[in-house]
Amino acid sequence: MLLAPGSIVLVPHEHFGIDLAPGLSIKLNAAFVSDVVAIDGVEGSDLTVVRQEFGGQVSTHVRCDVSSGVVVTIRPGAFKPLESAAVNGAVVDKSTEVGVLTAGRRYLETVVAEAGDVDITKYNVLVSIGRGIQEKDNVAIAQELADALGAAVSCSRPVVDAKWMEKSRQVGSSGKTVKPKVYVACGISGSFQHLAGIKGSPFLIAINKNAKAPIFQVADVGVVDDILEFLPELTNKVREMRRVA
Ligand SMILES: Cc1cc2nc3c(=O)[nH]c(=O)nc-3n(C[C@H](O)[C@H](O)[C@H](O)COP(=O)(O)OP(=O)(O)OC[C@H]3O[C@@H](n4cnc5c(N)ncnc54)[C@H](O)[C@@H]3O)c2cc1C
Repeated sequence: MLLAPGSIVLVPHEHFGIDLAPGLSIKLNAAFVSDVVAIDGVEGSDLTVVRQEFGGQVSTHVRCDVSSGVVVTIRPGAFKPLESAAVNGAVVDKSTEVGVLTAGRRYLETVVAEAGDVDITKYNVLVSIGRGIQEKDNVAIAQELADALGAAVSCSRPVVDAKWMEKSRQVGSSGKTVKPKVYVACGISGSFQHLAGIKGSPFLIAINKNAKAPIFQVADVGVVDDILEFLPELTNKVREMRRVA
């Protein structure tokens, strides 16, 4: 099977999509671009997409020939879902037979990691800390905000690597996948591996002292400030509001 000229197949840049998409593009004899965060547009037979390199420090604009179609993996969270009323397309269900896997791999079992003392996947609000928290003692600052909000504290991988929090609190591609309603990212740069663990397009509040941090590109609300100063103030405000209510 081949794609019609100009066709774009969009695949989520997640475990399954990353596995599937390159082989699919070969089968379809189509171009392939991975981990795309934006689509610039199509001009003639050229599609231009945007990728991020070096942990989001550099954006590259990739132009590819789509005369025989293209398979693109899209970074989760890169696009906000449209209201259904604004979408004209229809969903078509296609069933297919999956034959015997020939790639030298077979499914053995699903191993569910232990939840730890707090199961971050169960919370509607997460206060998530990154390397910007700077040291273990400062985790308490985030915990106080979480307590005031009825939230749990989660974290990025460097926080676990530094042994400031348990592995069960890590959000991301090698940690947990969470689906809160509100995600407060504190001192987190916004790497793809971290964002890959946040599902369901939560309301994302980012607090970072670097105004150019990539997390601001996906945040609904961005605060440029030092979390060590901002979080205690926010906690006091939340407590005040709770007292008044
Ligand atoms: C195979 C693989 C799997 C991975 N899996 C995961 C994963 O599951 N989860 C994960 O999180 N990462 C994962 N990573 C690591 C990932 O690539 C990033 O390195 C990591 O997410 C960065 O964490 P961070 O944002 O906390 O740290 P950094 O990228 O160092 O960002 C720290 C941020 O804090 C800000 N900051 C510093 N001080 C302050 C302050 N006082 N106030 C406010 N802001 C401040 C800085 O401006 C910066 O933006 C993985 C990497 C690989 C290669």
